[in-house]
Amino acid sequence: MLTSIAGRAVIVTGASKGIGKGIARVFAAKGAKVMLAARGAADLDAAVGEIRAAGGTAEAQVCDVTDWGSVQALVAATEAAFGGVDVLCANAGVFPQKKIVDLSPEDWDHVLATNLKSAFLCVKACIPAFERKGGGRVVLTSSITGPITGFPGWTHYGASKAGQLGFLRTAAMELSRYGVTVNAVLPGNIVTEGLEGLGEDYLRQMAESIPLKRLGAVEDIGHAALFFASDEAGYVTGQTIVVDGGQVLPESLDAMNEI
Ligand code: NAP
Repeated sequence: MLTSIAGRAVIVTGASKGIGKGIARVFAAKGAKVMLAARGAADLDAAVGEIRAAGGTAEAQVCDVTDWGSVQALVAATEAAFGGVDVLCANAGVFPQKKIVDLSPEDWDHVLATNLKSAFLCVKACIPAFERKGGGRVVLTSSITGPITGFPGWTHYGASKAGQLGFLRTAAMELSRYGVTVNAVLPGNIVTEGLEGLGEDYLRQMAESIPLKRLGAVEDIGHAALFFASDEAGYVTGQTIVVDGGQVLPESLDAMNEI
């Protein structure tokens, strides 16, 4: 049982939908004060309303994680609202599917900026706040795609998610001097607005390839993030956890038929 998160100030980016909203809900249910960030104000306000209706403490900040000034404003707003920052969940991301032949340089830059540069910007912006608090936690949302698996149409996405892990290993070393741990959750296929946008065929095909025989829920990722953010995980840094229902395990198509 993790008991250490109540009262902590937590930033979750990409929190208006999907996994980010799930992370925010899980942390708020454990008594954390959560700052939800995304670009779209309407979805953000709706997510904050859901958390407050369930008895949680939440605020919203419109933020584009690719923009340095916007990210700095997010951290300042969190310190103003909650008196500091204890946990950063850098989760915002996009996953438009396009094969290399159709992929433009602009498509590449958009995905790398949203998924990878944003991790650098968010971590950098939080360092002074973590210093003021004497410690902190960073939890990145990476993916199995890139670090472990490949899928046609996601070279840019896979590069961004594998890049996050390269970033985190050195960031974990650099931020140790501030008492900050840096870890990452690698989700498999989690039911979110973004994933549903990939279509019925994609969802069915993915569910069939998962040993636990279901797509993941956003809370599955929230609970893993909660572990990394807890006092109990204070000696864990630079690490990753795969949360995918066993999706990366089968060695062949036939292996699934043997289950
Ligand atoms: P989603 O349902 O599409 O939600 C994405 C969230 O990110 C939204 O709140 C969106 O809000 C926000 N966002 C996008 N661009 C942003 C920007 N520039 N600045 C600030 N916020 C931004 O996606 P999801 O499925 O929950 O995915 C969340 C994270 O998990 C991503 O990093 C994704 O790569 C990762 N992941 C997901 C899965 C999965 O199966 N779902 C699997 C592996 C990894 P606005 O558009 O309003 O800004």
